[in-house]
This record gives sequence, C-alpha cells and structure tokens, in this order.
Amino acid sequence: MAASPMVNPGDQPVWVNTDNCKACDICVSVCPSGVLGMRYESTSTLGAMISIDHPEACIGCNECELSCPDFAIFVADRKELKAAGLSFAKLTDDAKERQAAVIANNYMSLSEQGAK
Ligand code: SF4
Ligand code: SF4
Repeated sequence: MAASPMVNPGDQPVWVNTDNCKACDICVSVCPSGVLGMRYESTSTLGAMISIDHPEACIGCNECELSCPDFAIFVADRKELKAAGLSFAKLTDDAKERQAAVIANNYMSLSEQGAK
C-alpha cells in the first residue's frame, strides 16, 4: 500500500504532514509535555514550521491532533506503538517545565533564538 501522511511512517508516537501545516502554533500551545515547537523555515508561508523536538516525551493525549485545523499532525494508536515495542511517556515535571518555556518563547522551539 502506498504511504500516506496519515499512516505512521515508522515507530513514531507523533508525526506531521508538513505539506498541510500552516504554522498556526495551536498544537504547540495545547501540548502538555513540551514535545512540540516551531522552527524558522524560510520556504514556509508563515516563515515557520512545526517541529517534533521531544517525541520521547509524548504522552499520547491526542490534543495536538484534535486541535489542528489543517489535519497536519497525527498521534500513533497506543496498540500500534505497543506492537512496535514502544509506549507513550508519562507526564513529568521536566516536561511540564519545558512546555512552559516553549510557551514563554512564543511557541518557538527552545533551540531557536528569539521570538517569531
Ligand atoms: S496545529 Fe496543525 S497547522 Fe497548526 S502548527 Fe500544528 S501541525 Fe501545523
Ligand atoms: S499527543 Fe499530546 S503529548 Fe503527544 S505531541 Fe500531541 S499534544 Fe503533545
């Protein structure tokens, strides 16, 4: 079967169809675990693109997928992930602090300097 952006490309808890992402920041704002952030991307319409910075911290809450207005971000099915020998993370204080720092950084990845 041909690969589809909606099908998990591998053993990943969360993935993105970058063709659809409009860099609206919504998924970044709702993630409780500091998994997501925006990166500067000069070829993108808004000059930014979603980045999955900490997939290992994804708790599988689905908030990003449910909130994305452009159907651009997807979360693995818990059973599929288990079949691949993986599991979602537990929400930790470090992850919560990272999320707060990303929001304070105007939703930009912490590796990016300055505000958008
Ligand atoms: S909510 Fe969707 S369109 Fe907006 S930044 Fe996230 S992936 Fe991109
Ligand atoms: S499923 Fe939840 S924890 Fe994982 S990236 Fe999406 S919002 Fe963040």
